[in-house]
Amino acid sequence: MIDEVLNQIGRRQKFLLTSHARPDGDAVGSVLACGEILRSMGKQADVVLSDGVPYIYKPLPFSETVVVSPTVSADYDAAIILECDSVHRTRIEGLERHYLINIDHHSTARPFAHVNWIDPSACATAEMIFRLAREASVKISPEVATCLYTAVLTDTGSFCFNGTTERTFALAQELVRAGAEPSRIAQNVYFANPYSKMRLLGSALSNLHRDGELAWMFISRDEMDRTDAVDEDTEGLVNYALAIEGIEVALFFREQADGRYRVSLRSKGRINVASVAERFGGGGHECASGCAMEGPLSVATERILMQFRLLDGKLLVH
Ligand code: 5GP
Repeated sequence: MIDEVLNQIGRRQKFLLTSHARPDGDAVGSVLACGEILRSMGKQADVVLSDGVPYIYKPLPFSETVVVSPTVSADYDAAIILECDSVHRTRIEGLERHYLINIDHHSTARPFAHVNWIDPSACATAEMIFRLAREASVKISPEVATCLYTAVLTDTGSFCFNGTTERTFALAQELVRAGAEPSRIAQNVYFANPYSKMRLLGSALSNLHRDGELAWMFISRDEMDRTDAVDEDTEGLVNYALAIEGIEVALFFREQADGRYRVSLRSKGRINVASVAERFGGGGHECASGCAMEGPLSVATERILMQFRLLDGKLLVH
């Protein structure tokens, strides 16, 4: 399928690149790197993200070139959608009228585009973008390597998640060779938190609950306001619940401005949380997934908790 993607790219000149709303490290890193790789191939490439670049990824090369918009304002020969399972999840109007190329590594990825390159064996979409550059004989610059390394680092949970293999480290090695600086990237991603995020963490931890191998916590809109937090500050907080000894699955509920809840689901590996997120219209990976649910919190929590059961003290999915 990589050949077909390159074939379609070769036949076109002007590209829009995008990913899902509320982009994570793989979405931002892959889209920025892919845009630059296309430019190296002599193409025009505009990166458009409906929510823009989260502050922790602002230090990434090319982040200042991202257009923040909920609509496509020009005509493109094709739109390349990375790390995203539908046009709808980009929250960008006007993509449908374009030729669509979908590149994704999620196990819940869907073939919604004209060309669909889906590879759940890739540790991140960034791994696929690296392969794309190599197949196209594009040399990886230090800037592109920085974007791809950041994507791999964050999407593997700092090389902790199940999909982290020998191949992941070989990729990381290639990216470091190409100029990515692991310690500088880690400083930017993990050691540059705003004060509001730490205060929000305090609130989340005061709402922590446990039942056997399952832990969950939540954040209300009031708590977000009280701590001056923004949505991006919630990223990664679920891992504090997963970090508890004996916990297999952690859930994090955060109230949104419209009263609905975003739910992050994380697993240490025995339980496939993507299968649970999919029941509520979400998706992701076996160990890291998400979905949106109607409130109130008590109903949303109950509906998700009901998906799990305990058998001889072991957590199972119904
Ligand atoms: P997070 O909990 O950090 O928002 O998301 C964890 C993983 O699940 C990411 O790979 C993200 O792309 C995916 N994910 C989160 N929410 C959704 C959703 O509503 N739909 C789909 N398909 N994937 C999601």
